[in-house]
Amino acid sequence: MAINKEAYQQILTTLQEKRVTLVAVSKTKPVSDIQELYDLGHRDFGENYVQELSEKAALLPADIRWHFIGHLQSNKVKYIAPFVHLVHGVDSFKLLEEINKQGAKNNRMIDCLLQVYIAKEETKFGLNEEELKEVLVQYNQANLLYTKVCGLMGMASFTDQPEVVRAEFRHLKNIYDTVSPLQFRTLSMGMSSDYTIAVAEGSNMVRVGSLLFGERTVAQ
Ligand SMILES: *Cc1c(COP(=O)(O)O)cnc(C)c1O
Repeated sequence: MAINKEAYQQILTTLQEKRVTLVAVSKTKPVSDIQELYDLGHRDFGENYVQELSEKAALLPADIRWHFIGHLQSNKVKYIAPFVHLVHGVDSFKLLEEINKQGAKNNRMIDCLLQVYIAKEETKFGLNEEELKEVLVQYNQANLLYTKVCGLMGMASFTDQPEVVRAEFRHLKNIYDTVSPLQFRTLSMGMSSDYTIAVAEGSNMVRVGSLLFGERTVAQ
C-alpha cells in the first residue's frame, strides 16, 4: 500500500491558495500509510472510529492533529479527550456537555464542529437548521469552559449531479454565515468526490480519504 503523492501535491496546490486545511482521512488504512504522509510534512489526519483512532494515535508521532470525523457516542468521549484536535460531528447539546466534562478532566479545551444535515438521504447524521439554532442557544447560555464550538460540518448527498451537491454546500455556507458569524472560524465540507465544489462554495476545511490513500476495501 502506498499513498498517492501526485494527488496529494495537486490537492495541496488547489487548497493552498485559498487557505483551506486538508484533513487526510486515514480510516481503515495502516499506520505505515499515515507515516508516509506525515514524512511529507502532513499533520492533520481524520478517523471515524474511537478505538481505531486511539490505537493509531498511540503508534504515531505526538504532533499529529487528530480529527474525529465519525459519529461520537457520549460514553466514548473519554478515550479521545486527552489528545483529539477537533471533533467534527457533534449533533446534540448533551454530547457537548460530555465533551466539556472530559475536557475539564484533562484540563484542556476541546474544539468542536456542529454537524448540519444538508443531504437528501435519510441516513445522514446531523442537526437541521432549527435544531442547530437550539443547540447554539443552549451552548451560549451554558458557558462551557472546556469545549468550544468553532464551526460547522456537513456532508452532501451521494449523487453524480454536481449541481445538487453545489446547492447543498451553498446552503450550509449560508447557514454558517448567518447563525454565528463572530464565533465561527471553521467550515468543514468536501470529500474526495466533491472537495473542489465545496471549496468553491466557501469551505475552509476538507476531509479527503480515498484520493490520497486509495479506495477502501472495508466499507466504513
Ligand atoms: C470517510 C469520510 C470522508 C472521506 O471520504 P472519501 O470519499 O474517501 O474522501 C470524509 N468525511 C467523513 C465524515 C467520512 O466518514
